[in-house]
Amino acid sequence: MIDQAQINALRAAPVGEGMNLIGGQHVPAASGATLDSISPIDGTALARIAASGPEDVDRAVAAARAAFDDGRWSAMAPMARGRILQRIGDALADHAAELAVLGVRDNGTEIAMAFKAEPMSAAGTFRYYGELCGKEYGQIAPTAPGALGLVHQEPVGVVGAIVPWNFPMMIAAWKVAAALAAGNTVVLKPAEVASLSLLRLGDIAQAAGLPDGVLNILTGTGAAAGDALARHMDVDVLAFTGSGTVGRRLLEASAQSNLKRVYLELGGKSPCVVFADADLDAAARAVAGGIFRDSGQVCIAGARVLVERSVHRAFVDLLVEAAENMRVGDPLDLRTQAGAIASETQLNKILAACSAAQEAGAELRTGGQQLHADTGGFYVGPTIFDNAPQTSALVQDEIFGPVLAAQPFDTEDEATALANGTAYGLAAGVFTRDISRAHRMVGRLRAGVVHVNTYGGADVTVPLGGHGQSGNGHDKSPHALDKFRNLKTAWIAL
Ligand code: NAD
Repeated sequence: MIDQAQINALRAAPVGEGMNLIGGQHVPAASGATLDSISPIDGTALARIAASGPEDVDRAVAAARAAFDDGRWSAMAPMARGRILQRIGDALADHAAELAVLGVRDNGTEIAMAFKAEPMSAAGTFRYYGELCGKEYGQIAPTAPGALGLVHQEPVGVVGAIVPWNFPMMIAAWKVAAALAAGNTVVLKPAEVASLSLLRLGDIAQAAGLPDGVLNILTGTGAAAGDALARHMDVDVLAFTGSGTVGRRLLEASAQSNLKRVYLELGGKSPCVVFADADLDAAARAVAGGIFRDSGQVCIAGARVLVERSVHRAFVDLLVEAAENMRVGDPLDLRTQAGAIASETQLNKILAACSAAQEAGAELRTGGQQLHADTGGFYVGPTIFDNAPQTSALVQDEIFGPVLAAQPFDTEDEATALANGTAYGLAAGVFTRDISRAHRMVGRLRAGVVHVNTYGGADVTVPLGGHGQSGNGHDKSPHALDKFRNLKTAWIAL
């Protein structure tokens, strides 16, 4: 765990200039250009990072390709690869306090959550994939007599990973650790507003014995560095987490370049369905936590709640009480339950969505306002709209902020139709004491994960992936390795 004294000792620690990590070397952007990384805690510049462009991407991909082709990683015994990945996991845990505080200064997630969800979760992910190395076997096909069919799993080559600003270390670890475990080399591009902890991940990985060029990290904007990586002719697989808008661009970039495989973990508008027989106090705590923690900047945030009509008003009252009791503010205070919005752009987007929701006829029950503007930072109060029209943007579009849309329902069929009535399908929650209905709803809800009588909180052992326009492919679990491998058949005459 982390304590407040440790946090206070680290909260103003100097942050050096962020350099790219290419071929084991720390280098500035070829152009020398930099970007300011702004802290959402108070709106001040925290550090400068390299503003990389196509030339830097070329260098990083060339380094990754050379490291793949000469076998320094792909031809290493799997168990030896696994030991290095486990050492990276151990080192992340050893540096967890430093990494958590640096990440919070960069993106504003409340420290109590960030400590567990960022360095500690990333440590667990590297250990998990490290432990898998050397434990998997190939297949012998049940061919007709006279032939031997072997099915091999091979690494794809160079993996490009592009990650968002929420939980950068957790999400990068899901992709990087799985890609490395499968024997690939990687070029990682963090989001421009949350790069700093991932640059430290690069240092930690090198110190733990990862050979040069196996993990390359370059910072910069999506339009310059991200786009160049997506269009690169020598990247074999692109693994992305972020918005649907950018996901669509990546598919186009693949089509216009080398047809690289593109895996998309996108947004959501995830519903919680609360039946009248549920433990309503516990459900209210889970639903409120599911949307308001990290100020709603969570891909699986439960941004909609559907409540059986007989308890609808009373349940929304419980949610309003929970929202108004939440401690929103300094993300480096261990008592804070919802920290800052990661950027000023995102803050303005959330406030505009709240205004539009009111104009569309939803009833504002609480929130909808910027908080703590005097700090210079970016904070929004937990916000609840009731009776949100199903066709409104409030119900249909991801906001990625602490904004909950509540709606009543009368029957299980109606709840299912409302819940499934958006383009997304990332996560859902069901609250009921009826075990049969719980199982039925797991089957009926269109989502990659359905939580029952809880919300959020799943570990690395289970896959996370979207249905519908929430994406394709999966992070976490052994299933994630499939993204980063090719099947090869050997057909041998006997
Ligand atoms: P974003 O799509 O704006 O940016 C994500 C990454 O893509 C960043 O690194 C950015 O620099 C890069 N990028 C932007 N434009 C690009 C381009 N033209 N070409 C290549 N790269 C480009 O997303 P964000 O605002 O950083 O993150 C929030 C989004 O991520 C939300 O939609 C959220 O739901 C989603 N998300 C999904 C999951 C999941 O597992 N499904 C997890 C976390 C976040």
